[in-house]
Amino acid sequence: MSCYATSQELSCLFPYLERAGEYLYARGFTLEAALENDGLVERALEIARGAMKGRKRPLFCAKDFEEEAAAARLALYIIAASGNQYAIRRFADRESKLFTARLRGVPGLQAPECKASIAADLGVRARPSREVVKGSILAVYFPLAVWWTHYLRYAPQEPDWAMINRPVVKGWVLIRVDDFERLLEEAYERRVLALASREDIGYISGQLAKRPEVAELLAELRAYRPVAVKASVPGAHPPCMQAIMDAIKRGENTPHVARFAIATYLLKRGWGVDEVVDLFRSSPDFNEKITRYQVQHIAGQVGGRKEYSVPSCETMNSWGLCPTNLGCGVKNPIQYGRRAGAVAKENRA
Ligand code: SF4
Repeated sequence: MSCYATSQELSCLFPYLERAGEYLYARGFTLEAALENDGLVERALEIARGAMKGRKRPLFCAKDFEEEAAAARLALYIIAASGNQYAIRRFADRESKLFTARLRGVPGLQAPECKASIAADLGVRARPSREVVKGSILAVYFPLAVWWTHYLRYAPQEPDWAMINRPVVKGWVLIRVDDFERLLEEAYERRVLALASREDIGYISGQLAKRPEVAELLAELRAYRPVAVKASVPGAHPPCMQAIMDAIKRGENTPHVARFAIATYLLKRGWGVDEVVDLFRSSPDFNEKITRYQVQHIAGQVGGRKEYSVPSCETMNSWGLCPTNLGCGVKNPIQYGRRAGAVAKENRA
């Protein structure tokens, strides 16, 4: 890799890259060997528990690179062996956020060639933009280029990311470094989820259960559930909002626009800020302080003091959030309950 970091350091920083797995295997860190190393198992348990409790891991790898990398992989297998999808998603979310923080914060990883080589390990075809638009100022503003199909695979489902809003040259989408890192965050999260669903997870689970302290954590993880969410307010919710609420309650990582839409809707339906914040508690990346500020902002209680309206059905549809393809007969989701009530009244008459 064209990064100013050794293979040891890179494995420690990004333990779920393919080359980190190959490196550790070549150094003798098989699952069986790892489970015989008391210090390594203890560190893996610490990483797994820390992820569930929202504890941050350090940005830099200071020492014991190989043990730290092997412990991180073992922690993932412990979480995966629990079979608890919420725990797995939460772990993947934490690790992908740490990935981005390291990609942004570690000095030896800042060259476009280095970021492109990390992308290649994640299956993302990318290269420095100057190789695509030689001598153009575009390469200064957009230092990285991603092949368009890979861009579409990993770009967030947000209006700003639509390909029509991005410079595209000969099939390469030119993007800023921070956007590129966000794109790779998604690819890294999918890598973690893919490792967690390996075919031999049954064998791994059997090996892990041989260590009593690991078996104990596995039992805890199997019982692990998101914080309960309050019951819905009475009245019919439109299919779009119901789908978003269900996804949040299942602990799925919903897109930013979906969170914005549900917050505006529930506030208009009379939910308080605390109740809306509580709904988001089961999100894998929940942060009370940030969520509260954002909900208060949408409610017009902080910042510009502008209360946001519920997005129209047209807008919801353009964001890919209308499951009925504008089929409810209303212009805005907030009108849905009134129309459902009117239809029921008509049917009774
Ligand atoms: S038509 Fe409107 S209310 Fe119905 S699901 Fe679509 S966005 Fe929601």
